[in-house]
Amino acid sequence: MKAFDKFVRRKIVYPCLSIDKEKLTKNAKFLIETCEKKQVDVMAVTKAFCAIPEVAEIFVKAGARYLADSRVENLKKLSDLSANKVLLRLPMADEIEDVVSYANISLNSERSTIKALGDEAKKRNCTHGILLMIDLGDLREGILPSDVSSMVKFILDTSGVTLKGVGVNLTCYGGVIPDQNNLGKLVDLARQIEEEFDVKLDIVSGGNSSSYYLVENGNLPKGITNLRLGELLLLGRETAYGNPVKNTCDDAFCLKAQIVELKEKASMPTGTIGMDAFGNVPVFEDEGIMKRAILAVGRQDVSPDDLIPHDKNIEILGASSDHLILNVTKSEETYKVGDTLSFGLTYGSLLSLSTSSYVSKEVL
Ligand SMILES: *Cc1c(COP(=O)(O)O)cnc(C)c1O
Repeated sequence: MKAFDKFVRRKIVYPCLSIDKEKLTKNAKFLIETCEKKQVDVMAVTKAFCAIPEVAEIFVKAGARYLADSRVENLKKLSDLSANKVLLRLPMADEIEDVVSYANISLNSERSTIKALGDEAKKRNCTHGILLMIDLGDLREGILPSDVSSMVKFILDTSGVTLKGVGVNLTCYGGVIPDQNNLGKLVDLARQIEEEFDVKLDIVSGGNSSSYYLVENGNLPKGITNLRLGELLLLGRETAYGNPVKNTCDDAFCLKAQIVELKEKASMPTGTIGMDAFGNVPVFEDEGIMKRAILAVGRQDVSPDDLIPHDKNIEILGASSDHLILNVTKSEETYKVGDTLSFGLTYGSLLSLSTSSYVSKEVL
């Protein structure tokens, strides 16, 4: 694993994002197998942990044939892993060369981009796979259903690209829940394309972690052959209703941060209250003297609202750029300066901690 060392700092320095390989393996095996039984292939989405190769490898070992990310930089890190690479965000006009270099397939909805990908692939005597995105109501990426026929004709007429299939994205911008109606429509469109153009579509990609509840309750329309799973694989949570999924772990990732001050202080600031560091006027309740801990991690790394203290008796009071302030009065532990506290994560905190270069990454 030497090649991975440049992406993971081995010495633990705090704050630290800790990643448990065993727990992720458990999630990956269970979810990939469960989907396989319904003839659904999983694209393992790596963006929330910035595609640390050692972590992405877990999904390949568990049977994922595709690794998917929204950033080309991340796919580049995964070059050594033997899986198909998929670029999830529509390619930018000025990253076409990298997209063809580091992704086998990209999600697309624009003719000029598809043409540019084809031209670049032709230059290199290869072909680039197109997953055509169709907007079924969530109003993020995708062509309208009425444009499908002419767009497919355009893709089939463009040299250097092959049409791998169609996909939809839901519950991202508009919050639209995947159901038999919208996913059924995707399957219908796929069948319509296959008939009209006499082609076979490998991939009919029915969305992200928010579509998994349909796998669980047996209502995923037949003909959906693929799901792109991020949050569910990482945090064991389906995202249509936010429910935990049985047989998966929600604690494969945690934040560890160190106490730099521990003192008894008032719960109310003294003096005239103006704005805090972020332009908000804070409001306080007088709870008398409390035992307060300051941790060396702050908003530059993570939003305090997205942290779940493992010590249930701790209350997060707030944070500034580099300091997280806790009320530890009710804790049964006797903390001291230098101790580390740990926190469970949400999708938002996982994303921002992964992205912060001030947070070290520990892969256990
Ligand atoms: C991020 C992303 C996913 C994964 O979403 P999760 O909710 O984490 O499963 C799937 N598809 C696209 C296009 C994405 O950008």
